[in-house]
Amino acid sequence: MIIESLKKEESKVFKLNFNKNSMVSKKEIDFFSIEKKWQKLWEKKKIFEVKEIKGKKKKFFLLEMFPYPSSYGLHMGHALNYTIGDIYARFKRMNGFNVLYPMGYDSLGLPAENAAIKEKIHPKKYTEKAISNFIKQQKSLGLSYDWSRLIETHKPDYYKWDQWIFLKMFEKGLAYRKKAAVNYCEKCKTVLANEQVHNGKCWRHEDTNVEIKHLEQWFLKITKYADELYDVSKLKNWPEKIKTMQENWIGKSYGVDINFDINGIKWPIFTTRLDTIYGVTFMVVSSQHPKLFELVTEKQKSEVEKFLKKIKSTSEKDIEELEKEGVFTGSYATNPLTHEKVPVYVGNFVLAEYGSGMVMAVPGHDARDFEFAKKYNLPIKEVIKGGNVKERAYVNEGILVNSGQFSGMNSKEAIEKISKYIEKQKLGKRTINYKLRDWLISRQRYWGTPIPIIYCDKCGIVTVPEKDLPVKLPEKVKFGKGNPLATNKKFLETKCPKCKGKARRETDTMDTFVNSSWYFLRYCDNKNKKKAFDNKKIEYWMPVDQYIGGAEHACMHLIYARFFVKALRDLGFVKFDEPFLKLFNQGMLLGADGNKMSKSLGNIVNPIDMINKYSADALRFNLMSLASPDTGSMWSDRGIESSFRFLSKVYEYFPKIGKSNKLIESKLNKTIKEVSDDIENFRYNLAIIKIRELFDYFEQGVSKKDFCSFLKMFSVFCPHISEELWHKLGNKSFISLEKWPVPGKIDENLLKEEEQIEKLIEDIKNILEILENRNELKNKKKIKIFAIPKELEIYSGAKEKIKKIFNMEVEILDIREASKIGKIIKAQPGKPGIYVSD
Ligand SMILES: [Zn+2]
Ligand SMILES: [Zn+2]
Repeated sequence: MIIESLKKEESKVFKLNFNKNSMVSKKEIDFFSIEKKWQKLWEKKKIFEVKEIKGKKKKFFLLEMFPYPSSYGLHMGHALNYTIGDIYARFKRMNGFNVLYPMGYDSLGLPAENAAIKEKIHPKKYTEKAISNFIKQQKSLGLSYDWSRLIETHKPDYYKWDQWIFLKMFEKGLAYRKKAAVNYCEKCKTVLANEQVHNGKCWRHEDTNVEIKHLEQWFLKITKYADELYDVSKLKNWPEKIKTMQENWIGKSYGVDINFDINGIKWPIFTTRLDTIYGVTFMVVSSQHPKLFELVTEKQKSEVEKFLKKIKSTSEKDIEELEKEGVFTGSYATNPLTHEKVPVYVGNFVLAEYGSGMVMAVPGHDARDFEFAKKYNLPIKEVIKGGNVKERAYVNEGILVNSGQFSGMNSKEAIEKISKYIEKQKLGKRTINYKLRDWLISRQRYWGTPIPIIYCDKCGIVTVPEKDLPVKLPEKVKFGKGNPLATNKKFLETKCPKCKGKARRETDTMDTFVNSSWYFLRYCDNKNKKKAFDNKKIEYWMPVDQYIGGAEHACMHLIYARFFVKALRDLGFVKFDEPFLKLFNQGMLLGADGNKMSKSLGNIVNPIDMINKYSADALRFNLMSLASPDTGSMWSDRGIESSFRFLSKVYEYFPKIGKSNKLIESKLNKTIKEVSDDIENFRYNLAIIKIRELFDYFEQGVSKKDFCSFLKMFSVFCPHISEELWHKLGNKSFISLEKWPVPGKIDENLLKEEEQIEKLIEDIKNILEILENRNELKNKKKIKIFAIPKELEIYSGAKEKIKKIFNMEVEILDIREASKIGKIIKAQPGKPGIYVSD
C-alpha cells in the first residue's frame, strides 16, 4: 500500500536530533505526534477493515469481551486486556490471516441507569458520552480494530435483534412466562438470575441479601441444553479452571430410580447413593404420600392415624431442625439386591415431592436416617469403610464393605457397576439431575431491551409482530416510582395485534446478558437492516478463533453465549455448536503496592496519563513486560521509564545501520523463531526479553534488512514508532500489513560461544565489584583469564571486547600456567578462572 499522505505530515515530526552522544529525552523525540500521525493514517486508509475473501487466506476471528462503557473511561485493566488482543491481532495479520478484530459496547444495563439517576442526566446521553470517550482513548492506544464494525447494544438497530431472537425462542417454547419464586435485590430494585446471586448476595451488591419473591416472570429455557452445556469436551482450548467452574455450576448428578417390592407391588425409590444400598435397614414414606394407606396394615392403622394428626406439614427448610419422628406401617419392603425384608415407616422428614415420596434409609451413612434409627432402635449397618457408624453416620464416599460382589470397590466404581446391574436385571433405571435452572431474564428496570410482548384481556399474551420491531425504549420515563416503563402512558397503552382491542405492553426489560449472548454474530454483519446477520457471513467468520476476557465471566456470559448458539442452531440460524474455539483469561493488574487498584488506596494509574507522559508504545511495551499475560502483574513506574528508554534507544539507533555479522544473523534467526512461538502462546513477556537481547547485539552493527526483521517483530508491541522507522528506512508500505519475518539459518555453536563470553564478562564484573568493595582494586591493571586449552580460542577472540569494556589489560592464559604463578584455580568448561593482578 502506497502512503501518499505521508509527505504532508512529515514536516511535523522529522525535527529530530540524532546526536550520538546526547541522552535521548522526551522532548527530542515527539512520540505524541508520531502516534497521532499513524493512528490517523491507519484510519484514513482503512487498513484494518476486513471483508470475507475467498481463496487461500485463512480467516481469523479475534475477539475481546466488549466493555461496559463507564464514564470513568479506560482503566489500566482495559489497557492491558486490549493490548494483549491487539498484539495477537497484529501477529496473526502479519502471518497471513484475514483477521476480524472488532470492538463494541455493552451499553445497556443498570449501572448506566443508576449513574444517570444520580447525575440527573438521561441514560442515553450518559452512555453515548461514555462511548465516545472510550473510543477516543482506545484509539490513542493504537489498537488495530476494524472500527467499521462497531456495535452499541443500546441502539435500536442492535436490540431489535434481541427482540427478534426472543420471538423466535418464544415460538419454540424456549422463552416462557411463569410465576415462580425468584431472587430480588432491594438495591437493584429488580429480580436477578440465579447466576447473579453469589452466596445469597446480589452480584452487584456484595452486602445485600437477595430476597425471595413470588412473581410472574420471563424465562429462557436454558435447562433444555443442560446436558449439552455440561459437555465441555469440545472446548479443548479453554482453561481447565473455566470448564470446571461451568461443570460445577450446571451440576450434573446421576441417580437411580430403583424398585422395592412391597406386598407384591413395585415402589420406585430415587437415590444418588447406590453405593450404600447394602446398608438399607428400613424405608421411610412421606406422611403426605397419596398412596400411604395402601402400605398401612389393619393392625397399624390407628397408630398411623394418631401420628398423622400429631405432625405438621413440613418444608425442605424445616427438615434439618425438625425432630425426626415416625411409626411403623406394618409393611415390609424387599431390597432388590440383598432380598432382605426391611420395615417401612411413615416419617415426618420425607417430602412427598422428593423422588417418589419414599426413601431407602441407610442409617450408617446418612445423618437423618441415623437419628431416626437411634430413636426407634433400628439396626445400623456399615457398608462404607472409614467411620464408626455406631456413633455417627459416615456420610463420605469410600471403599465398600459388607456389600456382596461389590465389596472392595470405591463408591464411584460401585455406583457405576450397581447401576449397570440394576438396569440389566430390570430392577430400575438411571436418571440425571441438574442444578442449572432456567434463565430468568425479566428486569423491572428501564435501560434494557424491551420485551416484545403485549397483554390483551381477550387474547392473553400476544407477541409483537416481527414487522413492528423494534419495540423502542421511550425516552420519557420517571425513575424511582416502580417500573420506569410503566410511567410512560404512550408506551404502555397499545393495541392488541390480534383483536385490535385495548392492550398493554410488557414493561419489564431484558437482562443485559441477553445483549452479550450473541453480539459476536452481529460483528460479522453489523449493518444488516433486514436480518440479525447474514448466514454466509456467519459461516465465513464464525466460530470465534480466539476469545480474550476475564475469568469472572465463567458462569454467566460464557454459559449464556454457549446456550444462545445452541438454541440458534436448533432454530436453523447457525450451523456450529460452540461460539468460542479458544479462550484466554488475562491476569489481573495490581497497583505498584501489590493491591487491587482503587481510589481509596490512591494507587490508580491512569493509562491516558501514561500515554501523555511516555507514549502509547511505551505503555504497551511496559504492560507486556510486567508478567505473563495470564498471571497477575503489578504496575511499575520504573518499568515504564525503562520501556521508554528502550524505545528511545531503538529510535535513535536508526542512523547507525550498517552490516550484520554471522553472529547477529544467527541471533536474529533464533529470536524470530522463539518470539513467534512465544507470541502464538501468549508468552509476551518472554518475547520482549528476547527482542531486547537481540537489540543489544546490534551494537556490533546490523544490516538494514536485518533491522527491518527486528522492526517487524517489534511492531506488534510498539506499532507507532515501528511504522515511523519503517517509513524512514524508505519503505512505502505499512509495517502493520507486512509479512512476519521467516527465520533463516541458526549457527548454534556461534551463539553458544557468544553466551560463554557474556557469562565471562558478567563474572569479571562481579569480581571487580567485590575488589572495589574491599578497597583492593586500586593498583590493579590486568585481568588474567585462565581457560582450558579447548576454549582458549573462544576467549582470545573476545580479548579486545573485554579490554574495551573494563579499560584494563587483558591476558588469556592456559589453565595449566596458573600453577606457575602459584594460584590454584579450578576451571570448568565454559567457566574460566579469573585473576586480577597489578
Ligand atoms: Zn443488587
Ligand atoms: Zn386481543
